[in-house]
Amino acid sequence: MRHIAIIGSGPAGYYSAEAAQKKYGEDVAVDIIDRLPVPFGLIRTGVAPDHQSIKAVSRRYEKTNLGDNVRFVGNVTVGEDVSIDELQGLYDAVVLATGAPHDRALDIPGSDMNGVIGSAAFVGWYNGHPDFKDLDPPLDAKSVAIIGNGNVALDVARILAKTEDEFVGSDIVGHALNSLKQSKVEQITFLGRRGPHQIAMTPKELGELGKLERAKPYVEIDDFPDIGDDAMLEPGMRKSVTHLRDFLISDPEESLKPLGINFDFFAMPIEIQGDGKVEKLIVEKTALDKDLRSAGTGELYELECQMVISCIGYRTPPIEGVPYEHGRGRFANSDGRILPGLYCVGWARRGPSGTIGTNKPDGFAIIETVAEDIGSGNRKEGREGLDRLFGERGVETVTFRDWKKIEEAEVARAREGSPREKFTDIADMIAARD
Ligand code: NAP
Repeated sequence: MRHIAIIGSGPAGYYSAEAAQKKYGEDVAVDIIDRLPVPFGLIRTGVAPDHQSIKAVSRRYEKTNLGDNVRFVGNVTVGEDVSIDELQGLYDAVVLATGAPHDRALDIPGSDMNGVIGSAAFVGWYNGHPDFKDLDPPLDAKSVAIIGNGNVALDVARILAKTEDEFVGSDIVGHALNSLKQSKVEQITFLGRRGPHQIAMTPKELGELGKLERAKPYVEIDDFPDIGDDAMLEPGMRKSVTHLRDFLISDPEESLKPLGINFDFFAMPIEIQGDGKVEKLIVEKTALDKDLRSAGTGELYELECQMVISCIGYRTPPIEGVPYEHGRGRFANSDGRILPGLYCVGWARRGPSGTIGTNKPDGFAIIETVAEDIGSGNRKEGREGLDRLFGERGVETVTFRDWKKIEEAEVARAREGSPREKFTDIADMIAARD
């Protein structure tokens, strides 16, 4: 028998558990440990609430939990309820699948000002993550600057721009929907430090932006290279750039929709100014250097805005005693190996890149690596030892069966047209299972 602990119940954690199950059948016992009493990590609180088809992958993860050889152990904070060292003593392998839930810092003067929000917080707020339920973003802002040209920036803009009707079928949490209904936002500006050919936005998501009821995206032709140059792009990127070109407005009369979404390319924010809260961004125009990196030109302009949302990527939170690569914001590892018996997978291994599906080969690969190292196991105590420890410490865990009750309660309290109304408070989640 092999005993494996996976820390984190998002896609990387569940694909790793599935891989272990497929590899070993009944000869493995996997515990998926999560800080929250509810599973699925990024699927629940990262994927946009209006992208329900992406969230449907959680049904596959549910199947992984059907057998006894994979357990969900929720409501456990590693580092507080149990240490990494203790887990290593109990399990043949400990796999960190903790994702990258912290924002990469926007390191410019004024970035700690009221009205400057990181995407982890903003996305967590509209998705009902307990850590961010009280965020209260200043939606009385008329103009919002979104820093970054990735898919998270697109999610954030789309959520800000949608009408109440456009949220039908989504599971955006009630508090966010109510606040967004009162929103005064008229202008959203994406600030990309490079150009249209360097965006990290994918075609489907960009296409959605062009179909919003009350919002109109627009770009300026001067920012684009010659159209012939698009032929050199790889097909996905070419499609994205074609969507961008569709946002060109030749006739200003076209932009009659009440909310404008502007793409400012070659635009690097260098300072946020305001009297206690955001009033404007100072932006430096950039140009590409020979390595296609952005380089400041010294030319500045001001962008008036009352909220700034920085969508510039994420970091894995370090864990005391676990080697960490600060520059890249992930655990220091070689193909997922951190230390003997300690591994990482998904965003915690490679940084925040790729789609949900990228975590599948990652999860299967880490289990191959674990298998090479642990052979037929080292007669560790595994979950029995963990349960004993938690019994002694009075740690109250949440099982998958408990989660199904929480889920049932969330479905029962959904507003009409929505699949669920999530609990945003940990105590309410735990109460719902009883
Ligand atoms: P991302 O794709 O890495 O994009 C980050 C953006 O921020 C880039 O445009 C980057 O510009 C810019 N940036 C980074 N540091 C900056 C700085 N200091 N100042 C100004 N701009 C800066 O990250 P993401 O949008 O957070 O997405 C994370 C991952 O999740 C991606 O793989 C994404 O595709 C995925 N995702 C997918 C979906 C979906 O499929 N629907 C939805 C959401 C997220 P440079 O290119 O110049 O570095």
